Amino acid sequence: MIEMSVEYTDAPTASAEPSTGDKMPCPYCGHLLPKDATRCDRCDWTRGATETAEGKASDAIAVIFSIIPGLGHIYKGHKLAGFLWMFGAIPVGIFVLLAAFASAGWGLGLFFFYLIAVMLHAYAVDDRVAPPKEDDGEEY
Ligand SMILES: [Zn+2]
Repeated sequence: MIEMSVEYTDAPTASAEPSTGDKMPCPYCGHLLPKDATRCDRCDWTRGATETAEGKASDAIAVIFSIIPGLGHIYKGHKLAGFLWMFGAIPVGIFVLLAAFASAGWGLGLFFFYLIAVMLHAYAVDDRVAPPKEDDGEEY
């Protein structure tokens, strides 16, 4: 005698959560977060990180401004760094002029190395024009 006992369970085992309603995936790791989340608890994403990302267009402008050393930094809100780069250009410029005299003008090319350094830094530095309020502004 064979007895088969098959249990049917009509109840769905794990109710799939209606997830996408008021939630959003983390831009970095995809972990579902509340829509108004300011940070991810799985990775180091913060809302400020992605919202300043739209200001990345200013990187190119900062590089163009760096034709005058420091101007790109000032444009991005780094006034002190900008003035430091600007004042740094004075001794570098003097040195380059001396090198230019010593090398029949070819020394002027040295200044491009300084400009490239300024441009790279202006490009890489974080934009400070938009203050990151979302990070800890709610505590106040
Ligand atoms: Zn995440």
